[in-house]
Amino acid sequence: MYMCYLDESGVTENVSTTHFVLVGFAVQAEQWKWMEKAINRCKVPLGLENAEIHTAWMHRRYPEQEHISGFDHLDFAQRRAAVKQRRKGHLLRLAASGTRKQLKSAQRNYRKSDAYIHLTHVQRVSLLRKVADTIGRWQDARIFAEAADKSFVYSSNLRFDHLFDYAFTEVVQRYEYFLRNKGRSLGTTLYGLLVQDNNQTVSRRLTDLMRRFHKQGTKWTDIDHIVETPFFVDSHLTSMVQIADLCGFAIRRFFENGETDLFNRIYDRFDRGNRGVVGVRHNTHAGCSCRVCKDHS
Ligand SMILES: [Zn+2]
Repeated sequence: MYMCYLDESGVTENVSTTHFVLVGFAVQAEQWKWMEKAINRCKVPLGLENAEIHTAWMHRRYPEQEHISGFDHLDFAQRRAAVKQRRKGHLLRLAASGTRKQLKSAQRNYRKSDAYIHLTHVQRVSLLRKVADTIGRWQDARIFAEAADKSFVYSSNLRFDHLFDYAFTEVVQRYEYFLRNKGRSLGTTLYGLLVQDNNQTVSRRLTDLMRRFHKQGTKWTDIDHIVETPFFVDSHLTSMVQIADLCGFAIRRFFENGETDLFNRIYDRFDRGNRGVVGVRHNTHAGCSCRVCKDHS
C-alpha cells in the first residue's frame, strides 16, 4: 500500500510566477513510521520539533536578522528575543505611518516565519538540504510531478477546464501507472491512497474529479489501483505533506530560476520507466533543453 501526498507550488493564474507545479510524494505505508522519525531527527537539534517545515518561508532571508550585530553568536533564545524586538518596532512604525497593506503584509511575513527566527539563513538552508538528502535516499519513495510553464500553457491550444484539474489528472495517471507496473514486477497488486493538505478551496474539487475518474477513467487510463477519493490531513501535524511541499518548492525553483541545489538532491526519486524519467513532465514548448525534458524524451 502506498500513500501519495499532494501539494502545489506557485499559482495557476498566469501572474507573478512563471510555473505552476503539482507534486505527489508517495511512500509505502509500511515505511511511513520510520520516515516520519527520520524527518523529526533532522528537526530536533534545531529546536523545530513542534514546527512545520515550510520550505518557502524557511528559504528566504530575514533582513532583520542581518541587522542584529553578532547574531550568529547568540543562543536560540537570545536570537528569538532580538528578532521579535526588531519586528515589534517595525510593526509599530508601520501602524503609525505605513499603509494598511504594508502592515498586513509584514504581519503575515512575521507570523509565517516566526518558528524559524532563531536560525540563521545558513542553518535553515542546511536543514532543507539535509531533509532533501534524506528524501533522496529513500529508495522506495517516488515523486510524481507536473510542471506547467504558464506562458506556454495559456497560449497553446491545449484544452483543459482548469490548470489545477489538468495537473491533478496528470499526477493521478502517473501514480496509477506506477502502482500497476511496480505491482506487476513484484507479482502482486499494489494499491495506493491520495492524501492532500486540508484546503477547502480544492478539497471538493479533487473529490469530485476522483469520483469521476473512478467511474469513467481519465482520457488515457482506467483508475484501478488508487482507492477512494483523496483523504485530507492537517499539514501542521503531518511531516509527509511538508515533504511534498519541499519537493514542490525545489521543482518550481528549478524550472523558474534554474536552481539545482534542492532539486538535484531529490531527482533520483522521480519515477523511471523504460523511456527514462516518467514521473515528472515539463509542460512547455518543444525543444526545451532542461534536464527533465532531456530525460523525459
Ligand atoms: Zn524543460
